[in-house]
Amino acid sequence: MAASVIDGKAFAADVRSKIADHVVRLKEEHGVTPGLAVVLVGEDPASEVYVAAKHKQTVEVGMASFEHKLPADVPEAELFALIDKLNADPDVHGILCQFPVPDHLDERAVVARIDPAKDVDGLSVVNAGLLASGEKGLVSCTPLGCLMLLRDQLGSMSGMEAVVIGRSNLFGKPMGQLLLKENCTVTIAHSRTKDLAEVCARADILVAAVGRAEMVKADWVKPGATVIDVGITRIPHPEKPGKTKLLGDVAYAECAEVAKAITPVPGGVGPMTIACLLANTLTACCRAKGLDEPAGLTA
Ligand code: NAP
Repeated sequence: MAASVIDGKAFAADVRSKIADHVVRLKEEHGVTPGLAVVLVGEDPASEVYVAAKHKQTVEVGMASFEHKLPADVPEAELFALIDKLNADPDVHGILCQFPVPDHLDERAVVARIDPAKDVDGLSVVNAGLLASGEKGLVSCTPLGCLMLLRDQLGSMSGMEAVVIGRSNLFGKPMGQLLLKENCTVTIAHSRTKDLAEVCARADILVAAVGRAEMVKADWVKPGATVIDVGITRIPHPEKPGKTKLLGDVAYAECAEVAKAITPVPGGVGPMTIACLLANTLTACCRAKGLDEPAGLTA
């Protein structure tokens, strides 16, 4: 039986519409406008595309968007001075620095400079620690997006076997923590995992975040499992010269024959990431103002 397709694009649009409704209420009832500041260092074309998409979607949900472009050779002290200013600005509730940054800057130091209460990418050790200890913080956007998709698909995940392939700080570790919080029995697999196919085949929830095109095959998938494909690999388009095509970590067509539900690439997890950045900005704003947090948009 073919799996149902988890439409991340439609789900993300729904999340953004809920955020926009909440922003209207915040403005009307409390005179508050959530604000997101994005810092871009240098002129990396891919980063410029991401930053433009973030700005567009921020404005579309009624939030204030503050863009700061710095030259590629900006001294660390100047970048930190800007982050300090944004940390202190009451109109800014979320701050992110678009990565990668030029080599002379240390990404960990940049993240550490951002006030954890405004770290809407959820990348700081403070927010990672809060998640690991089951306390309230801000959660990395892509795992938060996957959690929202899984909750929508499955409702309660209590007692389910969950396998996450990948153990990065950006995705694998926070995803594992979130699934643990949902009372799953969690395995985090990685490049040294033995018998990976067998480990995956016991998962009720299989999340792949590796970056190796179509590595997950049909016999890695337990019949009836829910499969979330986070990986992105760009290859030359087989039919359109000069164009590229995106592939996920999951061999989609064959795995869709076995799974109960599956995310496509593109159009699955990808659109959830910016939606969750906006959700985190709204959450950070509500916390800063002592107001109720938006329902269904946090971990
Ligand atoms: P990463 O930091 O490179 O981590 C990759 C992980 O995969 C590592 O833990 C690595 O294990 C593991 N791995 C590598 N080869 C493996 C193998 N043969 N078998 C099992 N595990 C293996 O990457 P990331 O930042 O987590 O991102 C992972 C993928 O998700 C990438 O394709 C990225 O583009 C995509 N992504 C997409 C979104 C989105 O919005 N859709 C957001 C974030 C990431 P070791 O730790 O042992 O090296």
